[in-house]
Amino acid sequence: MEIRRWDRKQSFGKGVYGILIMMLVLEAVVLGRSVSGTTENISISESAVANGESQKDMEKKSGKNVGNVAGQENDTQSEPAPRIALTFDDGPSIYTEKLLDGLKERGVKATFFIIGESAEVYPEIVTREAAEGHIVGNHTYHHVEITKLSVTAAREEIEKTNEILEKLTQKKTEYVRPPFGVWEEELEDLEMMSVMWTIDPLDWTTKNADEIVNKVVTQAEENDIILLHDCYKSSVQAALRIIDILQSEGFEFVTVDQLFIE
Ligand SMILES: [Zn+2]
Repeated sequence: MEIRRWDRKQSFGKGVYGILIMMLVLEAVVLGRSVSGTTENISISESAVANGESQKDMEKKSGKNVGNVAGQENDTQSEPAPRIALTFDDGPSIYTEKLLDGLKERGVKATFFIIGESAEVYPEIVTREAAEGHIVGNHTYHHVEITKLSVTAAREEIEKTNEILEKLTQKKTEYVRPPFGVWEEELEDLEMMSVMWTIDPLDWTTKNADEIVNKVVTQAEENDIILLHDCYKSSVQAALRIIDILQSEGFEFVTVDQLFIE
């Protein structure tokens, strides 16, 4: 299929509208598929998959690579690297800095879901995570199952943690991973996006890094969200080996927002 080039002189306006319409269509497809039910509880993994599909659909319809809408020219025929996200819960801990060093060496950005009271113990680590380009998200103040609390107490768990994180990172806390994976629908006015996972190697049940590595790398596929905990030495060791193996297989590690948005 031939792609018609816009004549910049004649139809700059049309070009802009075309791009806007394409972006709106893409967004509509993504939103339409990702918001299930009536809550703000959007599963990133579902939307990431939806995003992948919708992008392919758009490419079929438009005959061009939607990924280039933002203006990046990509004339090669090669497929983009499959993306995957590492997420770490329950930190910071005494092992987190070692993990951050390893991520930096490998050029990898990850997503951290922080326990508020641990952030108060290791504030400089939270600041470092944000400064080095990782996403810092909320994992409640006391690591509690918020649906077991009153709505008022649940709100306090989230808001108190947001306050601490925002002071340390100078950024709005947009993502939450509720401990035990259950989000409270009544907190949707907080406008936070809850992020679940697609690969859970149950790293907290073993001290054997090999076991964790094997479970993850044998399951890993494009757009997966891997759940690990940076409060265990074996999990941190496993994480860096997982990166080395999956990078050698061509995966690109991204933060969860990139799986969702791009
Ligand atoms: Zn947790």
